[in-house]
Amino acid sequence: MDWQLIDLGSEFIAGIAAPESFDESFHIVISDDEVLTIDGVYPWRPLDQDQWRWLGLDVIASHYLGQINNVPVFTNEVDPEADNPEGYEFMTLWSFVSQVDPQLFSLIGRARQIVEWNRNHRYCGRCGQETTGFESDRSRRCQSCNLTFYPRLSPSIIVCVNKGEEILLARNLKAPVNYYSTIAGFVEPGESIEETVHREVFEEVGLRVKNLKYYGSQSWPFPDSLMFGFHAEYESGEFVLQESEIADAGWFHYTNLPNKPAMFSISGWLIDDFLKRARASSDP
Ligand SMILES: [Zn+2]
Repeated sequence: MDWQLIDLGSEFIAGIAAPESFDESFHIVISDDEVLTIDGVYPWRPLDQDQWRWLGLDVIASHYLGQINNVPVFTNEVDPEADNPEGYEFMTLWSFVSQVDPQLFSLIGRARQIVEWNRNHRYCGRCGQETTGFESDRSRRCQSCNLTFYPRLSPSIIVCVNKGEEILLARNLKAPVNYYSTIAGFVEPGESIEETVHREVFEEVGLRVKNLKYYGSQSWPFPDSLMFGFHAEYESGEFVLQESEIADAGWFHYTNLPNKPAMFSISGWLIDDFLKRARASSDP
């Protein structure tokens, strides 16, 4: 099957249990958080069955991800001590962000998160005994104390707050000098997603917002976030910055933003969505 002709959005069907027999397969090979690429092959594609077999790397664990037109897709975790095999190179997940389309990035991110979950839960966090993997529901279980470990997802919010034609942008202490972004933060236990939006905006910049509108979500596998994007309107308050996190924040007119949002992340999509609507409403 020609990988380049596949439409992942409609043809990839996620699954947990691999079929018993198959003649073709795809393999996303991961070592110590990095993804194997084939030299000279661009855009990236996974290894086919022959390439994977000939590679002969020591496998730590293999996981079925799903199938594309009845061809199973696996992710294979290999020994982190392994050198780059000849003709191949391990690349960081980050290097894929802007190089592959969002659907392919989400498949690679899925693979990396499943490998991480399996690596991080070999032993029970409560009693320290070895855990056992179950294919029926993608879990690892401790037979000693019955605790179950599923792949971890960390829900978080990202919000584009507007006041008329202006957008609220903030610069994180760790960000480059001219890099401003939308407000973001992790959901806390007991919170609804909407409550997180209100709390994060107030904690980081001291403002109250209203009229939340859900925009969409993005899997962000650094390491395991699921970002829920919102638009919101300014309601009240003056800037009070959270000193431990925010270096600067302000209102920026949509025609004069400090930096172009990166269009591979949901913060970029949110700002772009606001810009389109602001331009449309300012056209005579
Ligand atoms: Zn246990």
